Amino acid sequence: MITIKSPREIETMAAAGRIVAETLALVGRSIRPDITTEDLDRLAETFIRSHPGAQPSFKGLYDFPATLCTSINQEIVHGIPSHKRVLHDADIVSIDVGVWLEGLHADSAATFPVGDIRPETARLLAVTQEALAAGVAQARAGNHVGDIGHAVQRVAEQAGYSVVRELVGHGIGAAFHEEPQVPNYGKPKRGPRLVAGMTIAIEPMINIGGSAIRTLDDKWTVVTQDGSLSAHFEHTVAVTDNGPRILTTAS
Ligand code: MG
Ligand code: MG
Repeated sequence: MITIKSPREIETMAAAGRIVAETLALVGRSIRPDITTEDLDRLAETFIRSHPGAQPSFKGLYDFPATLCTSINQEIVHGIPSHKRVLHDADIVSIDVGVWLEGLHADSAATFPVGDIRPETARLLAVTQEALAAGVAQARAGNHVGDIGHAVQRVAEQAGYSVVRELVGHGIGAAFHEEPQVPNYGKPKRGPRLVAGMTIAIEPMINIGGSAIRTLDDKWTVVTQDGSLSAHFEHTVAVTDNGPRILTTAS
């Protein structure tokens, strides 16, 4: 069932989204060679819990053990923070974070460079961000979920990259994962119709190489099958009468 949020609920999600955005910015400023993903996780959890009523969405969700998902290089999503995972110069790390506030969630992700990255790696990050922006622009009342996926896919594939298909964006609200599913591929005018009051997480996962994925033995970390680099950018977006509104922003 697709749930429609009231204006008040959307404001609460925007408040959660502001904490999400500030958490991502804080973690982004802290990313450097030699820091561990557990260090980043601790920073994020402390910051989120410093806001009255706010909790990390991920901790305990499907038994996930941490506040952040931290996915390095060929890891696409769902990497588990660890004191054994040290970031190195020229790595990229995808940080995914959700915040629960007053009964509602917000969800965002970004991929950050560690130190100096190669130009081809920087291009992957830029194109994935561009794909997210193209998807968000389609989150308009009267459009369909397929318009979002089509826009994301076109940006990624025109750049020569591939789109992960097994993992998708989602509705979000009182439950972290709600309907509809929001694939990063698709055809215009297909799929559920978008109406004002829907809130969805749009989250392209784009690989430099092939689209095939596999899950590691930890049962969480999803990696590219060919070992190529992958990037992930995500916003929680409200469909409004005035067009898409990004809720996971600090401004
Ligand atoms: Mg997320
Ligand atoms: Mg999400």
